[in-house]
Amino acid sequence: MSKRIVILGAGESGVGSAILAQKNGANVFVSDFGMIKEKYKKKLNDYKILWEEGKHTEDLILNAHEIIKSPGIPEKVAIVQLAIKKGISVISEIEYATRYTNAFKICITGSNGKTTTATLIHHILKNVGLNVGLAGNVGQSWAFQVAEMDFEYYVIELSSFQLDGMYDFKADIAILMNITPDHLDRYEGMSGYTDSKFRIIQNQTEKDVFIYCADDEITKSEITKREIKAKQLPFSLNQKFVEGAYKENKNLKIKYQSNELTMSINDLALKGQHNTYNSMAAGIAAQVLKIRKEDIRESLSNFHGVEHRLEPVLKVHGIEFINDSKATNVNSTWYALESMSNNLIWIAGGIDKGNDYSILEDLVRKKAKAIICLGTDNAKIHKAFGHIVDTIIDVQSASEAVKTAYYLARKGDSVLLSPACASFDLFDNYEDRGNQFKQAVREL
Ligand code: ADP
Repeated sequence: MSKRIVILGAGESGVGSAILAQKNGANVFVSDFGMIKEKYKKKLNDYKILWEEGKHTEDLILNAHEIIKSPGIPEKVAIVQLAIKKGISVISEIEYATRYTNAFKICITGSNGKTTTATLIHHILKNVGLNVGLAGNVGQSWAFQVAEMDFEYYVIELSSFQLDGMYDFKADIAILMNITPDHLDRYEGMSGYTDSKFRIIQNQTEKDVFIYCADDEITKSEITKREIKAKQLPFSLNQKFVEGAYKENKNLKIKYQSNELTMSINDLALKGQHNTYNSMAAGIAAQVLKIRKEDIRESLSNFHGVEHRLEPVLKVHGIEFINDSKATNVNSTWYALESMSNNLIWIAGGIDKGNDYSILEDLVRKKAKAIICLGTDNAKIHKAFGHIVDTIIDVQSASEAVKTAYYLARKGDSVLLSPACASFDLFDNYEDRGNQFKQAVREL
């Protein structure tokens, strides 16, 4: 009898898992408590996979040998608890997919910078002709790629929610960008979140590599407490290493074994301190893969960046508009503000995940001449910055935000959408928020 695999959640990750399971001869069933998007229904039907929406039918779920839970579903929901109580193994898409591939895996986690770094590494590997797939938050799920494609290398972005359901998975190269408060609504405090991020190095051996940011306080202190078998390759803007990446004067240095690459920070395509970290992490991974120095240098300098991450939109009458809609927490907004010059109109707000705005105070005092709050409840932003910035205006749509910013700005000013909050109060998601912002700028 074939194995019964039940998938909870029919988004990109769930549908990919279903297709992979079906391909491997399982008896597959997909259950989503919400409504399934048309494109995913079509895909499931195309593959003749049975599904339900708007409910979780216990009889059809609790007879599973194994359940693959989409990362968006918290472990505490009733159906997952029932499954666990019954002794059914509940795993993530990544844990499932790893059983069906021998490809080399470069995995990136962290609170911020995952997509940028993953996309940059993919860019470097692709430029030298490696057969490489990119999986995670962008594009097709990893499970789908394992089912339908034949890549020799994968660059995989891993959220803490993905990592939570991973047990036997092993990253050949693990990259931890940083650990700052995020998603604390779903974890019980920082230690649960930190443990989840450190799952990126589980099962690694001496043959594997662990790349991390030595300037990140939490990472630094955790490293001394944990048993780490992999070769450690740190990166930093403040200290040097025999192996790893660091800044020396205006140059970036990347050292691995006997190879040493030097390039000017000015030549990096991605600007701003946070992006120097991202370039360092990507550069180390590329050196470990023995990619030639000239090729790494070229790719680090011709990369186009990723949409919605400090994305330049347009200059209108000398006023520059920048879309950083993906900044959904305070830390990413800190880096965005840090990379801006003065005379800034800052558009912020949305759904706050327990934000502490105090770390932004100095930068906002120095740079922001006005704040536009784009959210249904902006009380916390007023409270945090009302005494620092004279002009704080509430708006209810991206187009109102852009028009207000345009009215307030003068030639030479910048208008930055970097919300520090999630988008679900007024938008479908951060992409929708960024797209509406860009559209409104184009219509000025
Ligand atoms: P993630 O995939 O981890 O959410 P992204 O690469 O999509 O990260 O970037 C999310 C936001 O964080 C962007 O607004 C970007 O400007 C900012 N950011 C990018 N890299 C870093 C970093 N290394 N440290 C802090 N913030 C970053």
